[in-house]
Amino acid sequence: LASRDFHPDDTIIEIKGVKIGGNHLTIMGGPCAVESPEQIDEIARLVKAAGGQVLRGGAFKPRTGPYSFQGIGVEGLVMMAEAGKKHGLLTITEVMTPETVDVCAEYADILQVGTRNMQNFDLLRKLGETNTPVLLKRGFSATYDEFLNAAEYILAGGNPNVMLCERGIRTFETYTRNTLDLTAIPVLQQLSHLPVISDPSHGTGRRELVETMSKASVAAGANGLIIEMHTDPDNSMTGDGVQSLFPDQFANLLKDLEKLGAVL
Ligand code: PEP
Ligand code: MN
Repeated sequence: LASRDFHPDDTIIEIKGVKIGGNHLTIMGGPCAVESPEQIDEIARLVKAAGGQVLRGGAFKPRTGPYSFQGIGVEGLVMMAEAGKKHGLLTITEVMTPETVDVCAEYADILQVGTRNMQNFDLLRKLGETNTPVLLKRGFSATYDEFLNAAEYILAGGNPNVMLCERGIRTFETYTRNTLDLTAIPVLQQLSHLPVISDPSHGTGRRELVETMSKASVAAGANGLIIEMHTDPDNSMTGDGVQSLFPDQFANLLKDLEKLGAVL
């Protein structure tokens, strides 16, 4: 079902009037984690003012270590839903377990499956039973075939609203947090009709590389970008402050993308 052979036209996912896929470039921006009502409200305002369409923010965080901040849970979902509504943005948040799919879908417009859960087949099956759009992140050691098969689990369950997200893979290079695989963008678009979103924040792990790799992703044909942005990245509650853009950098990037001919 994910293959272009069976579905030659690009899939376009429409959510409350926002179209994702085809010729549309969708910008998703926001913090790694929802921290407080004030934080998410202010960031939502800035994402909207810059021209973004989707507010990102994690309430359930898949942290590598069990002692790290794990997100604020349902409270965070409520805060983000309010901020999204107030500022006219769609929202995307990560869901980690089959049991929390329903509550996440109640508050968010798009559900994100993180890189660590790409092959959480129970989660994928559960998402297949819903109609909620899903952004599926590529596992950091997953081949294209494994990635597309993970998407297939959701599609096979009856949910056609799947986006693929390249977020960097693990290589021998340690300078960057991950290696953003730009080649994945055209390859996935050749093999599949699903929208392909690039995540240059996790793909590089370094703020100073996000702008360039965002532009490179768009040049490679990405249907959208998901970018971490924070008003106070040095004090963010996850370690992802170092890869989060400052608001003015985020706004300038979107302006530059428009100058390059992208229609936001
Ligand atoms: C995130 O988007 O904050 C995140 C945890 O992403 P990934 O699953 O790609 O590491
Ligand atoms: Mn993050």
